[in-house]
Amino acid sequence: MPFLTDSLKRAFAAGTIVVTPNRRLARALVALHDREQRAAGCRVWPSARALPWDAWLRMLWQEALAAGVVPADARLRSPLQSAHAWDRIVAAEGMPLIDPGRAAVLAADAWVLVHAWGAGGDSWRAWAGEGDATDDCALFARWASRHARELRNANAIDLAEFPDLFCAWASAIPSLRGAALAFAGFAEFSPQQERLLVATAAAGATVTREDTLPSARGHMLRASGASPHDEIACALAWARARAIADPEATIAIAVEDLAARRDEIRALAEDILCPALQWPGAEGEQRPYNLSLGTALSEVPLIAAALDLLGWTEHPLPLGRAAALLRSPWIAVGTDAWMSRARLESAWLTEGRAKVSLRMAIAALSGPDPAMAERWAAVDERRWPASGSPREHAEAWRKRLAALGWPGSRPLDSAEYQASCAWDEALAEFATLGAVEPRMSRGDALAALRAYLARVVFQPESPPASIQIVGLLEAAGQPFDALWVAGLAAERWPPSPRPSALLPVSWQRERNVPHSSAARELAYATTLTAQLARGAPEVVFSFAQRDDDHACTPSLLLPAGQALEGDGVAVPVTIAQAQFALRPPREYVQDDAAPPLEEGANLRGGARLVEAQSDCPFKGMAMFRLGAETWPEAIDGLSALERGVLVHAALAAFWRVVKTHEAFLALSSTALRSAITQATEEALTCLPSARWRVVSPLVQQGEGARLESLLGKWLDDYERPRPPFMVSQIEAERSLLLAEHPLRLRLDRIDTLDGGGVAIIDYKTGDTDVANSWFEARPRAPQLGLYALAQRAVHPDQQVRAVAYAQLKPGKVTVRGLAADSRSWPQLKLPSSLKDDGIADWRAMEARWSEILGAIGAEIAGGAAAVTPRDPKKTCARCRRQPLCRIGAPAIEDREADDDE
Ligand code: SF4
Repeated sequence: MPFLTDSLKRAFAAGTIVVTPNRRLARALVALHDREQRAAGCRVWPSARALPWDAWLRMLWQEALAAGVVPADARLRSPLQSAHAWDRIVAAEGMPLIDPGRAAVLAADAWVLVHAWGAGGDSWRAWAGEGDATDDCALFARWASRHARELRNANAIDLAEFPDLFCAWASAIPSLRGAALAFAGFAEFSPQQERLLVATAAAGATVTREDTLPSARGHMLRASGASPHDEIACALAWARARAIADPEATIAIAVEDLAARRDEIRALAEDILCPALQWPGAEGEQRPYNLSLGTALSEVPLIAAALDLLGWTEHPLPLGRAAALLRSPWIAVGTDAWMSRARLESAWLTEGRAKVSLRMAIAALSGPDPAMAERWAAVDERRWPASGSPREHAEAWRKRLAALGWPGSRPLDSAEYQASCAWDEALAEFATLGAVEPRMSRGDALAALRAYLARVVFQPESPPASIQIVGLLEAAGQPFDALWVAGLAAERWPPSPRPSALLPVSWQRERNVPHSSAARELAYATTLTAQLARGAPEVVFSFAQRDDDHACTPSLLLPAGQALEGDGVAVPVTIAQAQFALRPPREYVQDDAAPPLEEGANLRGGARLVEAQSDCPFKGMAMFRLGAETWPEAIDGLSALERGVLVHAALAAFWRVVKTHEAFLALSSTALRSAITQATEEALTCLPSARWRVVSPLVQQGEGARLESLLGKWLDDYERPRPPFMVSQIEAERSLLLAEHPLRLRLDRIDTLDGGGVAIIDYKTGDTDVANSWFEARPRAPQLGLYALAQRAVHPDQQVRAVAYAQLKPGKVTVRGLAADSRSWPQLKLPSSLKDDGIADWRAMEARWSEILGAIGAEIAGGAAAVTPRDPKKTCARCRRQPLCRIGAPAIEDREADDDE
């Protein structure tokens, strides 16, 4: 069991105030004191008084106020007020900064360093004249001068300068006389802290510096993992074994880069320390571990939803966030409707929306969730002031969120409830911002709230757990029963220097400011390592042997120790791996056929069905019998499908007016241009106006020009040289009996040719396949074959003399087709030119189509659904149904071989 040092026991017994560098150590010392009192048989005892440094400073402020030494009406600024003041100062500079928020944080940190490590004066003022106006140090000097001026004008003091002011007041504060103060667990004191300690001692307080750890090192052990992941997994396995052996023990894992790896480490801890609590429904159960360093409050899902709801009134939300909000449980009015609300994302993607306004969402919600639409529509915008004090904004946000239904109707679990309490506290704190900025627009207020919440670290309170996962600084100074220190590879420990970018490096190095030089980092890391080595009777230091692609060695600062043996040496088997190992033998069922269609049933899907079935039987079945649509992709401008619609509509409009080849040739160039423009304008009206509202005017203009150019090129190069024809049908409906099942088709265009017979034209806006591929056993582009057969079936006496794909693709306008004779359409090839000896003429060509397309039809009717793509690379890339057909998953033979191993 860890214990308090004798001097700390005496200090607590004497009512001394123990000041620690952080809150965690203060809590731990009080807990140890209480436990020792219980162990000694006490039933009641005076509370131990331990405070973190910042809380002690605020206590000193109260004592200074009580003593009447604080200038009249002066106020101590809260961290929120100070941070907001720095945000304003940086913004007021008007510089084009990439991240003004980050610059404000750097400036606030530099301000703290200047006071903590400077001599107590305004030393930054000297840097104002150094370098040019954009020099970082000169910039900081300007910001610092402005900050100091604003503090004076507001009669305010911030926590960075308060200790030095207090030094001047200390002698006049009676409560310091005879007070007992112990500073425990500090690895070092800054010059400002030293000045404060001296001043309090001079004012009559008894000031001592206490060690919180035993003077002797524990038993040193060394360990390593093959990777950072394995290293932590070993540490968790070691901690689990110790916790099982002694449930009362306090065990810690200190991780060098915990902040960056928090999510990964939490997932590992769940898997190794409490696998049974991972199942749904156990989220609120107590864990055997406690993970420090919380997340920003703004990133907690409940709070992020609140911020997005509030922000939605100001600006449209990016589509992904709007959709996530509608799916979230925090806005549930009709909880059962969330699935229907979720479908709105697909509709918005199809419409090409990048952002969604609140008004648009309310309109869209009226279908899937009318209760929510009604509730949201009733929220009165006018009751949210355009401008007001921070307090008024906070009150308006509360009311608005309640009106919108946040945080939902289901009971909150413990962590969610604590987050909602933290939100209430944050709003109350925000209301105090009026001391820095009395009035704000509602946009500025919301931005300030976001910035504030991004800085508030939220960690739900949980009952004490036997395993603590902490950062190095948190572990230093705290006694444990067993401690594992992870992440100490040579390249990470000591860390590289990171001097403040806003302070002169020479000034920082002269004063030994934290992170200012390699020597400083080495000295500090050495001190910290020594402190950690005394943190428990058993201390394991570890490192990862490889990080990404390079080998690592242990830090030279690690104390000598034996190699760890037993628990913690091998990477533990995770619950997922254990369950997989226990899986039952698999049964394989060859299931590549859907139920056959009923006799004479319609084949639904038109030419696309035959094309899909020919591409891959499973694709055909999935698309047209299961209705398995792919998730729409986000589009910028118009989709390929919409561009296709426009081309079809424009050509249809053109030929509806011009009608014949003769009339087309008779058009003057001006008349032709005008006809094309009219056809284009008519085509553009085919897309719903809602689509054009989300496409920028520039894109709309560009689409019109693109369409005109495509039409002009096609008409001039491929329609003009043709022998005379008349466009007899546009969008013609036909029906074809395929394997005794009717298939409905729509033909883009049928031309009556001058010498008799017809030509069938299909418009394409993508690449077209070569004619030879139309007659393969699994044909590509089967549309023209289907159309030719359907036309012949309806008009057996009328010869189809040409079929052609008109390819209208920007930069690749061409025609690909076949003609029965060279007079029908001279630009097309004859059937005899095909690389198929069995197709000598048009009649043989139709017979081949009848044979292969009939076979595909029979497949469809029989329910053939094997996963056999014609060309896995190209076909599957276009299809995107891999999650359903599972092509690419290990082959059955491979899986059986795996099972046997
Ligand atoms: S992804 Fe490939 S194998 Fe799967 S259904 Fe589509 S075409 Fe067939």
